[in-house]
Amino acid sequence: MRRARVGNVEIVSLFDVYFGFDPARVWPGAGAGIEAYRDRLEANGDIGMDCLCFLLRADGRTVLVDTGLGPESGGVLLDELREAGVRPEEIDEVIFTHLHGDHTGWNMDRATSEPLFTRARYLVPQGDWDEQTSRAQPAASFTRDIAPLNLMKRMELVGDGFSISPSLTTVHTPGHTPGHLSVAVASDGERGFILGDVVLTTIDVEQPDWSSTFDSDQDVARRTRHAILDRLEAEGALIGAAHLRAPGFGRIVRTEGRRYWQGLA
Ligand SMILES: [Zn+2]
Repeated sequence: MRRARVGNVEIVSLFDVYFGFDPARVWPGAGAGIEAYRDRLEANGDIGMDCLCFLLRADGRTVLVDTGLGPESGGVLLDELREAGVRPEEIDEVIFTHLHGDHTGWNMDRATSEPLFTRARYLVPQGDWDEQTSRAQPAASFTRDIAPLNLMKRMELVGDGFSISPSLTTVHTPGHTPGHLSVAVASDGERGFILGDVVLTTIDVEQPDWSSTFDSDQDVARRTRHAILDRLEAEGALIGAAHLRAPGFGRIVRTEGRRYWQGLA
């Protein structure tokens, strides 16, 4: 759990779980290029990623962006929330950057089969909803975490430019999934951006053309990465990224023509 501030908006980073992947699986096209990044890998050769959610306190509202991988994976999101001084029933809105299972895992209380965030309005990316509901067999996590919200009439479909509150607006950032949304923060002249999975690691910031296995449309994802990295560099926005190592706060900066991720000190 760690806090940052953008104008009058407080952002709290909440850790759920860690996962590590073989970099050859994450970026199959990178080949020997990955050798330049040996120092970013774990001792066992994996690229490490944390699974992070972000709590926003903005305009009198308490908004949770993403709900992690969930209890079956030993996730600690609820402990992190408690440490941040927030009870699940205090969340006004839950918004998903996208509907992969590592972003929806804590939606439902396994004991009661009711939404864990009991008062929340759940904001679901339209493009991902359409994609899942058009499948013969939706993802298991969708069936477990999202479909019940619809049956209970607790969710709302949202797209680009949706105003969660005066300081918080969605931005369609497709490619990782068709409906992927980021959340732009604008308050008191300052900018922030809850990125979701537009980049997964610091390496993606420096190699935006390396396609990731995890992106559903690699061409669209590449175009989105370039456009969003350009925007975030120009704005100097404070970023919260879902899979960088905790707390996942940083900015896009450029030195001697080279762009990179600068973690928040
Ligand atoms: Zn993810």
